[in-house]
Amino acid sequence: MTELECLAYGVEQADEGVCLLLRLGPYRIMLDCGLTNLSPLVAKKAAPPADLVLCSHAHADHARGLLALHQAFPQIPIYGSEVTTQLLPLNWLKEDYKLPPHLCQALPWRTPVEFFDGLSAELYPAGHLPGAATIVLTYTPTGGGRSYRVVYTGDFFLSNSRLVEGLPLEELRGLSPDVLIVEGTFGTARHPHRRQQENQLAERINQAIAARQAILLPTPSLGLAQELLVLLRSHHHFTGRDIDIWVDETVAACCDVYLDILSHLPPSVQNFARHQPLFWDEKVRPRVRRLNPEDATALQPPCIVVADETGDLSQYYQAHLEDWLVLVSQQPHRHVGEIKGVMGAEKGEIILPAVEVYLLAQHCDGPGTTQLIHNLRPQHVIFIHGSPTYLADLTGLEELHNRYHLHSPGSGTLVELPIGETFLQPPAPETNYEGELTELDTVVTINLPNSITADPRWKALADTGLIEARWQGEELVLRGLPQRELLRQGGDRLIDWVDINSPLRQCCANCRYFRGQRCWNPNSPLYEFKVTPDGFCPVFEPLQEREE
Ligand SMILES: [Zn+2]
Ligand SMILES: [Zn+2]
Repeated sequence: MTELECLAYGVEQADEGVCLLLRLGPYRIMLDCGLTNLSPLVAKKAAPPADLVLCSHAHADHARGLLALHQAFPQIPIYGSEVTTQLLPLNWLKEDYKLPPHLCQALPWRTPVEFFDGLSAELYPAGHLPGAATIVLTYTPTGGGRSYRVVYTGDFFLSNSRLVEGLPLEELRGLSPDVLIVEGTFGTARHPHRRQQENQLAERINQAIAARQAILLPTPSLGLAQELLVLLRSHHHFTGRDIDIWVDETVAACCDVYLDILSHLPPSVQNFARHQPLFWDEKVRPRVRRLNPEDATALQPPCIVVADETGDLSQYYQAHLEDWLVLVSQQPHRHVGEIKGVMGAEKGEIILPAVEVYLLAQHCDGPGTTQLIHNLRPQHVIFIHGSPTYLADLTGLEELHNRYHLHSPGSGTLVELPIGETFLQPPAPETNYEGELTELDTVVTINLPNSITADPRWKALADTGLIEARWQGEELVLRGLPQRELLRQGGDRLIDWVDINSPLRQCCANCRYFRGQRCWNPNSPLYEFKVTPDGFCPVFEPLQEREE
């Protein structure tokens, strides 16, 4: 029997939420419970589906099923970080049911906690949302033998945002878990720097205010909403300006809980909050104010409204559609039209204010995901939390499937995780190089830092000075054109794909003009250049003419 398998009840490919059941030796650990419908879990009600539950963070897609699970199986303990335990009740604000006081028990950061013989877990901050944890699980059989380690990232973000610091990658480097369960929300997409995203959004809002528009920011009530408010309060476009920022009741309730967890927020935020209130301020400009529901229809531009995206948004702009600009955050597995009220879809009518999409990512991008994987160096990688096409982009990456066993299970599937005893650890991760594009009339120039030439592979790539560019999904892949491929461009001869050692092969080593590792054919573009024995050019001539 394998020691490790993972049953994916929900992987948040659409809106089903995340819920994974990990079997680690004799133990069954549930990772998150974001299902809206628990029937797959409670079908055999007599038997609890798990020995314990670990909750990565308080977002609904990871946590909304925890209360129902607790009601069905009060004996299953639920754990999360301290901040998560404080944010979790926000998931059930609208329910009458009185929450059990210790629905979720708090675990400390960076301290292994042993739950059962040989089974322990350790939490690391994951960025993304205050309290969000990346969970490191270790199982050591009591009879001795090899330990097993599984890392579950939850939702994670490597960059610092305003109210939460990024995942501290250096603390997890080289952990070499047997299995890494990682979110792939943005697939292989690449994002601009966080500050740049913020500035673009602030710039757009600033323009709209200058045009005396009212701006509606529909947002998930926890996380992004607070990021937006702190951004609006501290960005130079808005500080000191006579603008009202209105916050609806649902978002305001989440803001209030942020005030309770202030001591867990980054030092810069605590410092700010020593001098002025973090959110509610009617004196300092711009003013951040709670919006009474009855005032929602009477707002006058210019103003900014931050509102829960699941509420009825049309109430804000119904009277004066033309005054409003709706800015919606880009979320890969959601279309703008799915936001209630933005399209007026409920009543079947199309009432459209101007709607634009902005990027203020709470999840890391493709390069961030691969960076994390290469730093951890797992044997198996299980991708969850992304549309199937986005996850397929990740599993299709050569730099990943060359090194790791990749899985992207659909909801309801079991992933078996055979662990090789003599697994060859993959080679060190690649460095990413950042460059700049310049478009001039008909030519595009790509500038890269010349540290890239320090890599021994550079020589081979730059061999002929010619490169080939080709689209691979959304990405543009560059590759050097080796000598032997120049022939294709000439098109007047066929490449002889025979073994390199064969005297029949058309390559520099077998060319009559190849001497002293150089080309001495004055008709060749490589004349007098140093060439490799397996190189090729259009004017290849064999050592002796073959005239059998
Ligand atoms: Zn989340
Ligand atoms: Zn999530």
